[in-house]
Amino acid sequence: MADDNFSDADTDFQLPPHPIMVVLVDDQPMVAEAIRRMLENERDIDLHYCMDANKALDMIKSIQPTLILQDLVMPHTDGLTLLQSYRVSKKTRDVPVVVLSSKEESEVKARAFALGANDYMIKLPDKVELIARIRYHSQWYINKLQRDDAYRSLQASQRQLKELNLSLYQMSRNDGLTGIMNRGRFDEVIVDEWARAKRERQLLALIMIDIDFFKLYNDSFGHLAGDTCLKKVAEILQGGLRRPSDIIARFGGEEFVALLPNTGLEGAVKVAEELRGRIGAASLSHSESDVAEYVTISLGVAAVMPSDQYSSDSLIEAADSALYQAKHEGRNRTVVQRSLPAPEKGGRKPS
Ligand code: GH3
Ligand code: MG
Ligand code: MG
Repeated sequence: MADDNFSDADTDFQLPPHPIMVVLVDDQPMVAEAIRRMLENERDIDLHYCMDANKALDMIKSIQPTLILQDLVMPHTDGLTLLQSYRVSKKTRDVPVVVLSSKEESEVKARAFALGANDYMIKLPDKVELIARIRYHSQWYINKLQRDDAYRSLQASQRQLKELNLSLYQMSRNDGLTGIMNRGRFDEVIVDEWARAKRERQLLALIMIDIDFFKLYNDSFGHLAGDTCLKKVAEILQGGLRRPSDIIARFGGEEFVALLPNTGLEGAVKVAEELRGRIGAASLSHSESDVAEYVTISLGVAAVMPSDQYSSDSLIEAADSALYQAKHEGRNRTVVQRSLPAPEKGGRKPS
């Protein structure tokens, strides 16, 4: 039967054994001796004795018992005051307390329970009953400690999982080398921006950016220096965009792309020239370049009012052909493509 199977599996699972540790707080050595005898054959129960009420709290904090046996009438301090102090301290507030008292009055019992006692036994208790109660309350406490511990581990692993998910999410969107948006994410973003611009009847501009003579840079300074240069260029390009809606991404290799929502050709050219100026101003040394002593970029700009006639690909193609022209005309310059490529016969697939 399914139920039997379940209970089998359930009983198979054993929590690690935990010794029961009892602190008896009582000023009478005779009581202590009697309790000690009652527990002497119980191998899993460890008994500690405290006869000085003033030392009880410190002793309990250091021993960390699974149960306190607490006398009520003691010299200097009464047991109920001690009980209150156990309940205030963080280290002892959940440790079960069994009051051991010669007082049988209901009011005293009620007060003890109200102050946080877990049980109440009349001195001297019956041995069997005492052992049963020590085991019961201690086990409850041990279970609670294990539960708290498991909860803390669960919380810690949930935190780790959250951090891991966040870094996976960032890795899936950002380029590993430069930290800016990667090509995969850009391909998604441009489709969304295209649809939004079409809906809101706004212009959308795109700048294709390519580092000049970057192969020569790698060849002369090495691939690692090339990587460092790419990182710097990405950082400068990102810093050159003003609007929060502007997007910069690594398009591939040493090519970058800037997507500027709600921007026409004129505005996009200004941005392109600003970016080119910033890269020049950074004076990243490139002695092998044919156009300057430092790293330069070529840029191709296009803008369009998105419509069903074109797709976002045609905007990329237009900017790309302007970039090609910039290279052709001598590099380190911005070239504008004023019209998008003619739609294919029968119209392009609308995005
Ligand atoms: P042009 O001015 O015509 O753009 O010349 P170029 O040398 O920049 O262009 P080309 O396409 O011939 O070479 C691009 C170089 O970019 C080749 C490749 O080694 C380098 N490159 C691409 N990706 C990386 C990269 O992640 N790290 C490094 N260090 N270099 C890269
Ligand atoms: Mg290049
Ligand atoms: Mg290139």
